[in-house]
Amino acid sequence: MSTGLDTETLRMILSAIQDFADKRLPAAVLREWDDRGECPEEVLREMYGPQFGIHLLFIPEEYGGMGGGAYDVYRVSEAIARIDLGLASAVLATFLGLDPIIVGGTPEQRRKWMTRVAEEGSIVAYGVTEPTAGSDLAALRTRADPEVKGGQVVGYRISGSKQFITNGGIADWYTILAKSPGGFSFFIVEKGADGLTVGTKEDKHGIRISNTAPLTFEDVYVPAECLVGGVEGKGMLQAQQVFGYTRLMVASFGLGAGMAALERAIRYARERVQAGSPLIEKQAYTHKLLVPHLVRLAAARAYIEETARRIDAGQGELNAEGAIAKLVATEAGNAAADAAIQALGGYGYMKEYEVEKIRRDLRITTIYEGTSEIMEWTIARDRWRSHLQTRGQYYVEMAATLGMLHDRAPRVGAEVVALALTALGALLEHARLGRLTRNQHVLFRLGEWIAWAESAAAMARHAADGASALDEPGEGYPFTPPLVQAMSRLYARETALHIATAGLRWMYGTQIQGAPGLGELEAAVNLAAVYRAQRGLLSDADLVARAL
Ligand SMILES: Cc1cc2nc3c(=O)[nH]c(=O)nc-3n(C[C@H](O)[C@H](O)[C@H](O)COP(=O)(O)OP(=O)(O)OC[C@H]3O[C@@H](n4cnc5c(N)ncnc54)[C@H](O)[C@@H]3O)c2cc1C
Repeated sequence: MSTGLDTETLRMILSAIQDFADKRLPAAVLREWDDRGECPEEVLREMYGPQFGIHLLFIPEEYGGMGGGAYDVYRVSEAIARIDLGLASAVLATFLGLDPIIVGGTPEQRRKWMTRVAEEGSIVAYGVTEPTAGSDLAALRTRADPEVKGGQVVGYRISGSKQFITNGGIADWYTILAKSPGGFSFFIVEKGADGLTVGTKEDKHGIRISNTAPLTFEDVYVPAECLVGGVEGKGMLQAQQVFGYTRLMVASFGLGAGMAALERAIRYARERVQAGSPLIEKQAYTHKLLVPHLVRLAAARAYIEETARRIDAGQGELNAEGAIAKLVATEAGNAAADAAIQALGGYGYMKEYEVEKIRRDLRITTIYEGTSEIMEWTIARDRWRSHLQTRGQYYVEMAATLGMLHDRAPRVGAEVVALALTALGALLEHARLGRLTRNQHVLFRLGEWIAWAESAAAMARHAADGASALDEPGEGYPFTPPLVQAMSRLYARETALHIATAGLRWMYGTQIQGAPGLGELEAAVNLAAVYRAQRGLLSDADLVARAL
C-alpha cells in the first residue's frame, strides 16, 4: 500500500509554487521583508487561499484536503525552501500545529479543526518550547488545571509561557503542550482567548520573513473538548509519533535551501573570469567549493527519498530515519550555503547576491525540530538498541548487503560503503565491550557516524537503481547515471574515511593505555583499506566538476 498524490498532480503543485514565487515573491521583495524582519501575512494567507491552497497537501482527503504522502511533502517542502525558508517555516508550523490532532485527535476534533484549516485556510502555531525547556521537554512548566463541575471535568485553565513560537503572532489558533494531572497533553487554544498574550516578535538572525513570538498564558480557559484526543497524558506520544514525518520536512528544507545556494554559486562560477578563465574551470575552486557540497546534498536527497517512500509504504513512523535525514541534509545544506558565500567572494558577502540570506536562513534548520545534537542522540539510541538486539550483527549484515550490491552494480562505491559499515559495526561492538557509551560524547559521535554510513548506503542503492528527483535535470547539469555513480563513490570514500579516522580517534581517546581490544578494532576498521579506497578520488571529482 502506498499513499500520496499521483505524479501529474505533484508536478502541477510544484509548478504552481514556482509560478506563485515568480509573480509574488521576486528576490528584491524577499530582501526587503528580510531587511525589515517583516512577515508578509497576506502572502501566507494567499498561499492558503482558494486559488493556491498549499495547506491542502497536508490534510487528508476525507476532510477536504489532498492527502499528500511523505514523498509529496518532501518535494513541496524542498520547493518552498528553495524560494524562502521563512515562508517554508510558516507552512511547517501550521502542519506541526495540526499534527497532534491528525495523529491523536478524536473523530470530532479531526473533523472540526482539519475542515477549518482546509476551508478557511487558518494559520496554526505549535507551542511546545518554553523559556526553560527546549530539548528537554520533560522540563515543561506550563500547567493545565482541570475545572470540575458536578464531578465532571468541563474545561482547563492554562498558565505558563511558550518561547520561539513560529506564527505565534499571526496564528488563528494554537496547539499547546501543557502539564495536566494525567500527564502532558495538547490543548487547542484560539486566538484572542482571555489571558493569552502574544509577546513582541523576535528579531532574528535568519528566517526573518517568518513570525516568531513568545506566548504567555494567564489562566486561559479552554473547554474540555479542546483536550486533544479527549484523554490526558497522550501529548508526548502525539509529539513523537510524527517526528519521522516532520523531521523529513526540515531535512527537505536543508536540501532545498542548500541547493538554492549552490546553484547560485555554480551560475556565478560559470560567468566570473579570474586569471584568464571562468572559475568553474579551476580545479581547486570546484573541488573545494562546489563538488563536495553537491555530493553531500545528493546523498541527503537519496536518503530523504528512500525514507519518504518507506513512510508512504506504511513501514512505520521511522523516527530514527527522520533524524538521520534531518541531520545529514541540514548539515549538508548549511555547509553548502557557507561554501556558496566563499564561492562568490566579496559578492557573496553582499545582500544583493542572496547567498548570505540563504546562509542565515539555513542556520535554523540544525536547531528547530530538534537540534543536530539531539538528532545524534536519537539515532545513536535507536541503532544501539538494534546493535544489542542483533548481537552486534546489525551493521555486519548491512555491510554484507552492500557487498552484494557491489557484485550487481560495481561502479557505485558499494564496496567502500561496506568498509564503512564494517568499521561502524566494529566501533559499536568495541564501545559495548568497553562500556564506552557511558561517555555521552562517544554515544553522540556514534549517532553522527551512523548517519553518514546509512546515508552512504542509500546513495549507493540510489546510484544502482534509482530513478527519481535526483535524476531530473537541474540547472544545466544533467544527473546522468555515470555522474550519480561518481557522486556515490565520492560520498562513500568520504564516509569511510570519516568513520574510520574519527572512530579510531575517539576509541583510542576514550581509553587508558593498554586497554584490551584496540588491536582487534584497528584490524576490523582496516584504515589501510579505507585509504586505498580513496583511489580514483580526483578523477571522480573531475568528472562531477566537468558536468557543472
Ligand atoms: C526561529 C525559531 C522557530 C521556532 N519555532 C518553534 C515552534 O514553532 N514551536 C516550538 O515549540 N518551538 C519552536 N522553536 C524552538 C526550537 O525547537 C528550540 O529552540 C530547539 O528545540 C532547541 O531548544 P533550546 O533553544 O531551548 O536549546 P537547548 O535545548 O537549551 O539547547 C542548547 C544547546 O545544547 C544542546 N543540548 C541540549 N540538550 C543536550 C543534551 N542532553 N546533551 C548534549 N547537548 C544538549 C543543544 O543541542 C544546543 O546546542 C523555534 C526556535 C527558533 C529559534
